[in-house]
Amino acid sequence: MDTTNINQTCPLCEKDKHMEKKAKLLYGYLVCKKCYYSFANRRQVAFAVDIILYIICKNICQGIVLKLAASNEADVDMIRGLSFLSSFHS
Ligand SMILES: [Zn+2]
Repeated sequence: MDTTNINQTCPLCEKDKHMEKKAKLLYGYLVCKKCYYSFANRRQVAFAVDIILYIICKNICQGIVLKLAASNEADVDMIRGLSFLSSFHS
């Protein structure tokens, strides 16, 4: 970590309070520790939201496929079985 420019202000929050010894590199720029971990926390929340939206969309699409593909109750059971088996591969 480059700590030669310790006496500068954080480019994100424009404060120099947390820039002393704890400045961290974020995409090549020195930012304060508070902004660095705030960014990391937002990225983790965004990842969790992406996973939840993916699961919801996957289930909605599977439900639509079940409705469209099934012409009678026997086909619904068969497609549900195939869907269950295919979930082990993903
Ligand atoms: Zn900052």
